[in-house]
Formats: sequence, C-alpha cells, structure tokens
Amino acid sequence: MSCRKVVLLGATGSIGRNVCRLAKDMPERLRVVAMSGFRNIDRLAAEANELKPEALAVPDVEAEAELRSKLTYAPAKIFSGAMALEDLARWDDADTVLVAIVGTGGLKPTLAAIQAGRNIALASKEVLVVAGELVMAEARRCGVRILPVDSEHNAIFQCLEGRNTSEVRRLILTASGGPFRAWPEEKLRAVTREEALHHPTWRMGEKITIDSATLFNKGLEMIEARWLFDVDIARIDVVIHPQSIVHSMVEFVDGSVLAQMSHSDMRFPIQYALTWPERIEGTLPPLEWGKLGRLDFEEPRYDVFPALDLARQAAERGGAAPAVLNAANEVAVAEFLAGRIAFPRIWEIVAAVLESVPDSSGTDLESLLSADRAARDRARAEAKS
Ligand code: NAD
Ligand code: MG
Repeated sequence: MSCRKVVLLGATGSIGRNVCRLAKDMPERLRVVAMSGFRNIDRLAAEANELKPEALAVPDVEAEAELRSKLTYAPAKIFSGAMALEDLARWDDADTVLVAIVGTGGLKPTLAAIQAGRNIALASKEVLVVAGELVMAEARRCGVRILPVDSEHNAIFQCLEGRNTSEVRRLILTASGGPFRAWPEEKLRAVTREEALHHPTWRMGEKITIDSATLFNKGLEMIEARWLFDVDIARIDVVIHPQSIVHSMVEFVDGSVLAQMSHSDMRFPIQYALTWPERIEGTLPPLEWGKLGRLDFEEPRYDVFPALDLARQAAERGGAAPAVLNAANEVAVAEFLAGRIAFPRIWEIVAAVLESVPDSSGTDLESLLSADRAARDRARAEAKS
C-alpha cells in the first residue's frame, strides 16, 4: 500500500478543498506535500495549518507576508511571484501534481510538472482544450501519466481500463443539462447571475458552474476527451442525463456499452485518480439503488445551446481554434458574472470571436498563447459592442 505524495495546485477552490478533505480522511494513502492558493489567503492558511505541507505558493508577492503571519507551523519553503506555481509544480518530494486551477493559468505549471517527471492528476480541463496535443506529447516524451479528475473523463478512464481504443466506437459524455435544461429559449435572455449559479446536481466553482449552464463545460470536455483518449472528435457524443449518476459511457465496436456510476461527489473521481491503479475502501457512500428511482437520458437541445456545436467546430478546425474558443468563453463568463452582459451573449461572443480570429497553424506554446491573447482582446471588444 503506497502513500501518494501530491502537490495540490488550487488548494482553496472547490476541487482543492475536496482533495484536502480526502487527505484528512485517508492520511495513510494521501499526503498533500505542497499546495498553492491565490486570493483567499485565510483559506490557504487554514488548510495548510491542518495538513502541514512542506511547501506553499502564492502568485502575489504581497500575499506572502500575510500568509506567513497566519501559519501556525513553519513550512520548508514559500514560493511567491510569477513563477511560484511552476516552482511548486517541480517540488522534489512528490510523485503527482493535481492541477485544480480554474482557467488557462494551469497550463504552464502542468508543463513544468510533466517536465519534472511527475504524474498529473488533471482537473483543469482548460489545459487540454488550449494545448491538448502539446501536453499529451510532452507527457509521452517524459514518460508520465495524465490521470483524469474531471468526472466524465475519470468515468471513461475506468470503463476503458486495459482496453485498446481501436475497440471503441464512441465515447458518450453525460451532461446534467444545467439549470436551464428545460427552459424555453425566450426566457434565457433574462437569466440572472444567481439563477445561473444554481446548479441542479453539482457544487462547484463559479466559472465551471456558468459553463455547465451554457453547456460550454460539455463542449470543453469533448475536446478534453479527444486528447486524453486520442479519439477523433467525430466519435465523441453527448447525452443529457439530469440525475448525474452515470458519469459517462464507452460504446465498444461490438455494441456493448460500459458506464461508470456513483453519487455526484467529486471525491469519487479524485480518489480514483490518486489511488490508481488500486481501488481502496475509503469513506465514500455507496449508491442506494432502491432510492435512485429513475435514470433519464435525452438529446441535448443543440439549437438552444450552441456551445456543443461551437466546441465541435473548434475541435474540427484544430490548430489554435480550441484555444480561441476557450479564451473567448473565459472572458464572456467573467463579463456575465460581473453583470455586464446577458446570459446568451456568452455564446454569441464566443461564436463571433471564433469567426473573427484567424486560424493559426502553429500549435507550439507561443502560438497558442498568442491566439489566446488575441481572442481575449476580441472578446472584450465584442462584450462592449
Ligand atoms: P474554483 O474557482 O473553486 O477554484 C479555483 C482555484 O484556482 C482556487 O484555488 C484559486 O485560488 C485558484 N486560482 C484561480 N485563479 C488563479 C490564478 N490566476 N493563479 C493561481 N491560482 C488561481 O474552481 P473549481 O471549481 O475547483 O475548478 C478548478 C478546475 O477544475 C477548473 O478547471 C474546472 O473546470 C475543473 N473541474 C472542477 C470540477 C468541480 O467540481 N469543481 C469538476 C470537474 C472539473
Ligand atoms: Mg465534468
């Protein structure tokens, strides 16, 4: 029985706090040896004081003194400044880096961890949407694993275990459909921030909760699956499953389908990613079949929620198009959360930016990041118009 030593990037977020909770529940199997935070220094200090990681990181140099003043133990190292997350990602005494930073900020630390030979437990889907080809190639070159934490991809990973993807006909991602699954289209323009932040089945950070309401979350996940499992986007489908019990499915060439199920609690996929290839008993509750009632499946409303088609188009175009889609979406979500645009403007902005930012053939990091910057500028301008 081995103890996984984990660097946790994004310890103060929704995923990060679930990782900390698991580390407290199974200290013999999971140790957080290093962790990072961002703006919520109180939260970072509270988790650190309990788990006592050897190293900490905060990108803001000024936050370092505040963090030190709130610690009740002396960590071996506190990194701060622009390179803090990359430095932490290379922390020596670790075997796995769990990336749970929202948005594109996780990309460079992920690459740093891969190059330092660490396995990656990946929650930040944006990393693979922006630079999937590059990240997967770098992982192969460095001989490290990318273990999916996103529940759908973790489900597919479990269903595929030991199988060759040549035996796969389709990957079927399940989506809850979000809070507006059954709403009439004409009501969507009046959606409030609070309504959009009220997810029916999952409690998550704000950005991914809005992405779940627009279905961009599922669009990003289609692209994430394309790279994680090396399956062409044409063979990746989405089905709406409002109960969020079936976390995704694999249809094999013989027509058989394997599905993975559990409660909608992110500790299930996190625990599997961090104990893989073993399964351990842990403290997570089993499904009570008699109380489940029913499991429903339905087609997405592609016409009302264009995010799925936009993501598919971006994946088909390839190059920097997925990075452009992702960047425009990040800006549009921030604008919606700030109360400056109406809800449907999110996909209208993404569609406009995808159309106006030229295809770049370069998929090296610099070309992708420059496409990302151009898309953000364009999306900000679009939001003002
Ligand atoms: P969150 O907003 O709750 O937390 C984000 C974390 O990132 C925080 O720890 C914050 O400190 C850190 N962070 C944010 N901006 C940063 C920056 N510029 N520099 C350094 N750190 C920064 O987000 P979350 O819901 O935990 O999601 C994290 C990632 O995991 C996202 O990519 C999301 O898509 C993915 N994910 C989340 C869930 C979920 O249940 N929450 C499920 C699947 C996938
Ligand atoms: Mg998911």
